[in-house]
Amino acid sequence: MYGNCGSVSYFCINFELIDSISIYFSTGPITWAKKYPIAATGQRQSPIDFNGENCTVCKDSSVFKPLEAKYPLVINQLKMVNSGNGWRVDIPSDYVNDTFLKGGPLQHKYRLEQFHCHWGKNCESGSEHTVNGKYYAAELHFVHWNCDLFNNFKEAAKEDKGLAVLGVFLESSEIKHEEFEKITSMLKEIPYKGDETFIPRISIDNILPKNRSYWTYEGSLTTPPLYESVSWIVFKEPIRVHETQIDEFRKLFHTSKESKEPLKVIENYRPVQPLCGRSVAFVEYA
Ligand SMILES: [Zn+2]
Repeated sequence: MYGNCGSVSYFCINFELIDSISIYFSTGPITWAKKYPIAATGQRQSPIDFNGENCTVCKDSSVFKPLEAKYPLVINQLKMVNSGNGWRVDIPSDYVNDTFLKGGPLQHKYRLEQFHCHWGKNCESGSEHTVNGKYYAAELHFVHWNCDLFNNFKEAAKEDKGLAVLGVFLESSEIKHEEFEKITSMLKEIPYKGDETFIPRISIDNILPKNRSYWTYEGSLTTPPLYESVSWIVFKEPIRVHETQIDEFRKLFHTSKESKEPLKVIENYRPVQPLCGRSVAFVEYA
C-alpha cells in the first residue's frame, strides 16, 4: 500500500517464469519504503492518474504563460547508457546551455539534463501516469533542472522547484516512428548494465507530440530517492511508435555482462500514487 491519505494503490506482481524476471520483483516499488520512507509518507509523490475529477481545465492563457521549449535542431554525439533500470540519453554539457524549458507553470528557466523511458511487460501497461485509469505502452521523461536557482542538476534534484520533467506517452501502432528509431536501433549496442553507445543525430522536437496540451502538477521523482522536487508537465497527445520498437526496450538487461543471474528490464514503471489534495491543471491548446 502506498501513501497515507486513504487511497490504496497495489502493485500487482506477475511472475514471468522465463529466462529473466522483472527487476521490479526484488527491487521494485513495493520495497522502496523500507529504505526511502517518503515512498509511503510523501504528500506529493508521482506518478498520478489524470481524470475528470482531479483536473482543472484552463482553456486560455489567463492562468499560465505559454510553455516554451528550445532544443536546438540537431544534436550530435548523444551518449546513451544502459542504467540497469532502462536506457537513458545524457545531454552533453556543451549542449545543455543551448536548451531551455520555461513558461507554463514554471516560474524559472530549466535546462535539459537527460531523457529516459518507462515501459511495461507488454503494451497494455508501461506508462507511469495514467489517463482515466488507462495506461499507455510507455512514457518518455525529459528531465530539466532549474538554472535560475541552482548550478547543476545534482544541486537542483533535491529542492522544491529544482526539476521540471516533460512527460510524453508512447502509444503502440503499426507505423514505425522514424526519429525514435534512432534510439531503438541502437539499443542492441547497450544490452548490459553500464554499456554505453552514441546515437545518431536526433531532433528532440520530432519526438514530442504536435499538440502541446498538457497536464501539470507538483510531484516527485518516480524512482528512488523519490525527491519531491518535480514540476510535472505531461502532454496529452501521445507519440505513436511501432510495437516492435517498444519490444526492443524489454531486451535490455538489468544486470551486467558478468552476472551469473541475468535479469531483464521487462517493466520499470511505478504505479500511481495518492493525490493527497494536490491540484492538477489541464492546459488545452487547439
Ligand atoms: Zn522517469
